[in-house]
Amino acid sequence: MPSIEAAIIPVTPLQQNCSIIWDHDSMEGVVVDPGGDVPVLLKEIEERGIRIEKIVLTHGHVDHAAGAAELREHLGVEIWGPHIADEFLLNSLVQAAREYGIPGARNVTPDHWLEEGGTITIAKLPFEILHCPGHSPGSLVFSNTDIKFALVGDVLFNGSVGRTDFLYGDHDALINAIHTKLMPLDDETQFICGHGPGSSIGAERASNPFIRQAPSW
Ligand SMILES: [Zn+2]
Ligand SMILES: [Zn+2]
Repeated sequence: MPSIEAAIIPVTPLQQNCSIIWDHDSMEGVVVDPGGDVPVLLKEIEERGIRIEKIVLTHGHVDHAAGAAELREHLGVEIWGPHIADEFLLNSLVQAAREYGIPGARNVTPDHWLEEGGTITIAKLPFEILHCPGHSPGSLVFSNTDIKFALVGDVLFNGSVGRTDFLYGDHDALINAIHTKLMPLDDETQFICGHGPGSSIGAERASNPFIRQAPSW
């Protein structure tokens, strides 16, 4: 079994869970959702001795993507994801950062857009790409069913789901994506989400009020 490790570094005033995921043997890894605080991320990468191979974005929100261009410049790697439906968000990161008080934001054009059905290599392992729109049109989830681990961005949270009160938000689409793409995953699947503590698919299936099925009585 490959030994995968993860470090979570909350970034920006929104305390978004930027995560560094790496393979313990080769020390090769990726940075997922570098929303900001790039110097902090670079220090973490250097101190741990990780060789970053790519930057991965789950979706185009400012707290997830606004540091990606700067980090790409420092590391000389490519940015993969999100789905192209979030292009409009990535083109207005500077404006969004002003609203949320996030310093140093840059708009960003990824090197590769990602689509449902493909896989992306993270820490030497293939992760399935699941397109889960609703929170944002281009939100992606990355899942590896062998090690039962997923990166869910702002689609699903411990006890909650992503907010959809944006002009482009779609709560029904979000719930549908969670039911059709995330709930089929094994109960044991652990996930890291964009904000707050992670959880497992089983725990959310059992107790998340947005997912739990109506009682039969
Ligand atoms: Zn978001
Ligand atoms: Zn977020």
